[in-house]
Amino acid sequence: MTGAPLLRTEELSRSYGSLLAVDRVSLAVHEGELRSIIGPNGAGKTTFFKLISGEVTPSAGRIWFRGRDVTRLPQHAVSRLGIAKSYQLTNVFPHLTVFENVRVAAQGHRRSFNFWARAAALHDARDRGRALLETTGLGPKADLLAAHLSHGEKRHLELAIALATDPQLLLLDEPTAGMSPEETDETMVLIRELAAGRTIVLVEHKMKLVMKISDRITVLHQGQVLADGTPEAIRANDLVQRIYLGAARS
Ligand code: ATP
Repeated sequence: MTGAPLLRTEELSRSYGSLLAVDRVSLAVHEGELRSIIGPNGAGKTTFFKLISGEVTPSAGRIWFRGRDVTRLPQHAVSRLGIAKSYQLTNVFPHLTVFENVRVAAQGHRRSFNFWARAAALHDARDRGRALLETTGLGPKADLLAAHLSHGEKRHLELAIALATDPQLLLLDEPTAGMSPEETDETMVLIRELAAGRTIVLVEHKMKLVMKISDRITVLHQGQVLADGTPEAIRANDLVQRIYLGAARS
């Protein structure tokens, strides 16, 4: 792939006491790419995500987003620059309707102190909220309280909320965790559709899904990059087979 990467890390590390949760991880994700990060439990995948999103501060190394050094930016500043994450239902307000959840997220993204601009933004946020619910298949559920959605629907709502800020980079942490096989298939199609217009980094354990939808895969093991390549190359990698794929969930 050519051109400057959208996201780049260089020797990124995070330790907890004597444990190196993320150990000198260097990778580059290009615009439009769907990158999956896989690896056994405890490999450092979630910690890596938290470093990118500004939730956790690196112990060493650097992070660049759109050519800008964002290594020590706080989470809200990273989010404003265009990185959104969809984590296991942490952003859903159960006592708001499905539509309100998305509208609030879209509204929060555009702040203005001018009355007319604010009124227009409110209108935009409504339109955007409706469109995102259609995209994520939640249109018919718009007026239900979020608490009344099924688990799979809540995960889709979480996705719609993340998309409401129109991010340039979307981080998805196990978007199909706890889903039935049917819901997993639906979500896989949805992620592929979303990937058509944006850059996605995905942490996921379900190998069938990862192999089908990724442009490129990075395998982490004990905090380090074990391998990086196309799904075909990763599948054919002996070391990855031995350490991870042999035991991974399908
Ligand atoms: P899983 O697939 O099980 O979610 P993971 O690949 O996401 O695992 P992490 O959650 O990033 O792995 O954890 C990497 C290592 O860092 C683990 O050994 C974990 O116990 C440790 N770790 C993560 N967060 C902390 C923390 N806040 N304090 C201490 N140790 C931590």
